[in-house]
Amino acid sequence: MKKDVFLVIIASIIVVAIIYLYNTKVNPKEISKKIDEFVEPELEKKYGFVVDSFLILSDTVRPGETLGTIMSKYGITAIEVDRISKMSCDTFNLTLLHVGQPYTVFQDTLCDSIAKTKYFVYENGNVVYTLYDFSKADTIHALKLRKNVDTLQKSASGIIDYSLWNTLNDQGINWQLAIAMSQTFAWTIDFYGLQKGDAFKVLYTELFVEDNSIGIDEVKAGLFIHNEREFWAIPFTMDSCNQMFFDKEGNSVQKTFLKAPLKYTAISSRYSHARMHPIFHKVTEHLAVDYSAPMGTPIYSASDGTIVFRGWGTGAGNMVKVRHNSVYSTVYMHMSRFGDYNVGDYVKMGDVIGYVGSTGWSTGPHLHYEIHENGYKIDPLLFEAPPAEPVPPEQMDRFNKEKQKWIDEINKIEFPTLEI
Ligand SMILES: [Zn+2]
Repeated sequence: MKKDVFLVIIASIIVVAIIYLYNTKVNPKEISKKIDEFVEPELEKKYGFVVDSFLILSDTVRPGETLGTIMSKYGITAIEVDRISKMSCDTFNLTLLHVGQPYTVFQDTLCDSIAKTKYFVYENGNVVYTLYDFSKADTIHALKLRKNVDTLQKSASGIIDYSLWNTLNDQGINWQLAIAMSQTFAWTIDFYGLQKGDAFKVLYTELFVEDNSIGIDEVKAGLFIHNEREFWAIPFTMDSCNQMFFDKEGNSVQKTFLKAPLKYTAISSRYSHARMHPIFHKVTEHLAVDYSAPMGTPIYSASDGTIVFRGWGTGAGNMVKVRHNSVYSTVYMHMSRFGDYNVGDYVKMGDVIGYVGSTGWSTGPHLHYEIHENGYKIDPLLFEAPPAEPVPPEQMDRFNKEKQKWIDEINKIEFPTLEI
């Protein structure tokens, strides 16, 4: 009996020992996890250079300064400046400096006490910068580079007191959101007719470079309450088509045509079956609308379609014709130059197909714009653009699921509490 007790005790000791050894056995996964957790402290960098390694001087371009006068302040010799100015590529054109743009000089202070400029960075814009590399003894390199752009999803809400712009501005939100919203809701809400008490909730993306906002990317989804009515903009992508906005019932909130194929314009000649032609001084038809606009104003394709003509027409000058579907085509005349699209290219509504000019029979910069409906020229100003297609029945299930996610997201946004 005593022997049995002894054996049980021995067995228990062995089991406990095995459990103990198993639990204390070092797990290789844990080692790697510990190594991962040890992250080297990140070195502060500017334009990819380690900040601590240089003496860094920053300033902005002042009136009258050239790259040469600025660089000479930082010890770049006249010979080096001359070599830069002779770089053939127009990317590095010295005349392209803009007053107020920042620049940064990286100087090396290691060799004796004379600071030597190693790198010179000029910011061409928010994203693009030019790097002049003086670090090599015999050559100077100039590179045009881009900073990393981060896209962040954000939300905003507000109750309109005076204007949409003021409501955003009061909250420190980028004013460009007002433009993005007016585009998203362009066909459902008259932004000139907003009322006090109208309200909105919107999800959008904003672009950041080094924590500084460089603008609004796009509205992702939104709700606008106008005159106590709800207007939803719910994104949905049908098959391979582009993403469009729909209301809760799956009706498109966008129309298929822009109201006008350019911005900032005045109508200089309307659609008419009898008007005095400004060049020929005789009564002719003008089955189009003329928009006078500054030379170079971008001209947008009024709707999605395919470019079927791009070239010279005797009276039309530089002309583009876009075929949108079996019913509608649009024609644009007197362009100063064309956009980046050629015959056969598919363009989307709002793509730039050319620029306002005065080519052909024209007395000044303007766009002559025609809409052809089944081959007939109709009055663009009376044209009621058909709404884009609704969500087709076979895709309603998918739409309803995605819709609910967006509605939940929008509903989570709270209105700002009003200060009294
Ligand atoms: Zn005309």
